[in-house]
Amino acid sequence: MAACCRLTRFLVVPGATLGGPRLPGLRWLSGSMGTEQAVYDVVVAGGGMVGTAMACALGHNIHFRDKKILLLEAGPNKVATKLPETYSNRVSSITPGSATLLSSFGAWDHICNMRYKPFRRMQVWDACSEALIIFDKDDLDDMGYIVENDVIMSALTKQLDAIPDQVEVVYRSKVISYTWPGPFCNTENSPWVQITLADGRQFQTKLLIGADGQNSGVRSAAGIQNVCWPYDQSAVVATLHLSEPTENNVAWQRFLPSGPIALLPLSDTLSSLVWSTSHEHAKELVSMEEENFLDAINSAFWSDANHTDFIDSAGSMLQYAVTFLQPTKSSARQLPPSVAKVGPKSRALFPLGLGHAVEYVRPRVALIGDAAHRVHPLAGQGVNMGFGDISSLIHHLSRAAFDGKDLGSMCHLTKYETERQRHNVFLIAATDLLKRLYSTTFSPLVLLRTWGLQATNAVLPLKEQIMAFASK
Ligand SMILES: Cc1cc2nc3c(=O)[nH]c(=O)nc-3n(C[C@H](O)[C@H](O)[C@H](O)COP(=O)(O)OP(=O)(O)OC[C@H]3O[C@@H](n4cnc5c(N)ncnc54)[C@H](O)[C@@H]3O)c2cc1C
Repeated sequence: MAACCRLTRFLVVPGATLGGPRLPGLRWLSGSMGTEQAVYDVVVAGGGMVGTAMACALGHNIHFRDKKILLLEAGPNKVATKLPETYSNRVSSITPGSATLLSSFGAWDHICNMRYKPFRRMQVWDACSEALIIFDKDDLDDMGYIVENDVIMSALTKQLDAIPDQVEVVYRSKVISYTWPGPFCNTENSPWVQITLADGRQFQTKLLIGADGQNSGVRSAAGIQNVCWPYDQSAVVATLHLSEPTENNVAWQRFLPSGPIALLPLSDTLSSLVWSTSHEHAKELVSMEEENFLDAINSAFWSDANHTDFIDSAGSMLQYAVTFLQPTKSSARQLPPSVAKVGPKSRALFPLGLGHAVEYVRPRVALIGDAAHRVHPLAGQGVNMGFGDISSLIHHLSRAAFDGKDLGSMCHLTKYETERQRHNVFLIAATDLLKRLYSTTFSPLVLLRTWGLQATNAVLPLKEQIMAFASK
């Protein structure tokens, strides 16, 4: 709120005359309505986890010390004055690579001082066979961290509040239009992107970063095509109490024919559920009696109702061959914990879909996070891909700033696009393929995936490659 008041003192509502002090270093230009508008070096539109982290990364970068950065967010300030006792039902599995990014500008320390749960092992298995894959670290490194989204937001906001001279933030500011100079839009007086808020305020920027989520207004205003489709699934989330306390450092995921169910550790006694299933089943799950809900979860993890003798025998044959050819000890199957109670009012559902922007950049604009890509949560990669976008974009922008180049130039923006599309397209395609491959009980495909999973689990270098790619 303080940041909001701080900025509004300096900016002009169309039709109003300029009054009060001007922010040092901020340039002003005449706008289309005859008023003066502040010109920012970078404006980040959208202050979710990805946009706020982008603003932090820019604000804490030495090469942006003399630059003016603005973050616009339609919602309120999300800093938590006190950590709530009850865990939130919205959590993210954060990779070590994302934790490194968050550490680079001090936000990870805040997360560690609030709460997070590291996990050391991940067990993924098929409900139609005995096939499974286990990822674990023999060097006792963490594989990843389960963190509440609110905790991430609070940590990021604290780091933004610490650099008020570097980054201006306007909360409760919904952008309603963007106007580009150059070939695909015309602005009369300025070579910069012009931004108009719902309350009439206007700004200009040399580089607009669209971090405004899956329905990105920046993406559509820039005319960037988005390849997207809805999945036939919604994700049900909930906070669950385990039947008994455990070390709870394993992330579990079982592929049911109706969709994957995952149990992510929060503490010794609590885990977070992400159950992707048909829209109808998801609606039933959120509204059914608590006892039935718990029975459904326990049975989803434990029941062998989808097994067939044919697949079990064929799977055993390959497993036998693998053990014979490669007798080295592989990690043993563990049994998932059972759940005994649901956190109060913690059940919610989210429709799922896939989306990918054909271009991530245009002159003076770059898309990051869900504005550029949306994936199924089965691989726990959505926000991690967004954080990966930030690492790449900040690298190229920082270099451009150091060399005194135009931040909105395609020279370095296309380098960002190439780097990230190479990574993201592969992940989106692999996630979509897994979703489809596991949505069937058609025996030949079940056999194929059973053998595929068993073989992958047996080839250590391949598993290490997968782990290295997914932990970026
Ligand atoms: C059930 C579920 C589980 C998931 N689990 C994981 C996981 O374990 N790991 C993982 O990596 N990912 C996970 N994800 C994905 C992850 O949640 C998203 O990728 C991430 O939240 C996207 O963040 P974002 O900041 O890009 O977009 P958003 O969170 O959508 O933020 C966009 C922001 O832009 C603002 N905005 C929008 N329009 C405007 C406007 N016109 N003006 C101003 N502001 C605007 C909005 O208010 C919002 O704050 C999961 C997703 C789901 C649904």
